[in-house]
Amino acid sequence: MHCAPDSLAGWRVLSAKGLPGYAPNRSGIRCPAFRDRDMAKRAFVFGVDLDGTCADFYDGLRPIAAEWLGRKVDALPEHVSWELPEWGIDQAPGGYEALHKFAVTQRSLFRNLKPMAGAPQVLRSLSKRGVRIRIITHRLFIKFFHLPAVQQTVEWLDTHDIPYWDLCFMSDKAAVGADLYIEDGPYNVERLRRDGHRTIVFSNSTNLHLPGPRADTWSQVEELVVSELAAWQAGQADEGELPGR
Ligand SMILES: [Mg+2]
Repeated sequence: MHCAPDSLAGWRVLSAKGLPGYAPNRSGIRCPAFRDRDMAKRAFVFGVDLDGTCADFYDGLRPIAAEWLGRKVDALPEHVSWELPEWGIDQAPGGYEALHKFAVTQRSLFRNLKPMAGAPQVLRSLSKRGVRIRIITHRLFIKFFHLPAVQQTVEWLDTHDIPYWDLCFMSDKAAVGADLYIEDGPYNVERLRRDGHRTIVFSNSTNLHLPGPRADTWSQVEELVVSELAAWQAGQADEGELPGR
């Protein structure tokens, strides 16, 4: 399930077999091709982060963290910073990694998170417009429980009827490519933008210091994506016109 960008050589091989849109990775599992030859016909790709963007990660983790720490939920602030120093996770044995493992393997965190209000509906609407939804998440950042992490992720996406064609477990989100990204993680937003990738920051207490474009709600996400899509389509139309016409 782990997708990594393929070499151009790998893409050529499968392209010759007439399977546009897919290319083999080193393990033979098919992942989305990252080099579309026919740019004019390809879909606009929306790279979508899950935790803190589509899924209400901090709301879901908070009661689990309280249980794990032996504290009352109300004792853990709702407004947190990146890496959760407000909850004292870094002071507990094992730190965040130990909490994360407990939450996923013992409390099915990724299966039970609530979607952000409107996220499934907006993603379905965008998909109907022809936007290709590419889920890009770094949920496999801790070793040895990838199976439940991936399984819970797929179950969650299906349970909430979230449409997607590509599901990539990636740290380097730019590596899989997208025309537009949405992210909440400050590091990811800054890294993507620094490399020239258009990125909407989805607001939460970890990223309020970042400049826009920003969305506080999924209806605002929809407006921004529709606007970007229209600009992209206009650009595609211009590129398709022959000189002199
Ligand atoms: Mg996130």
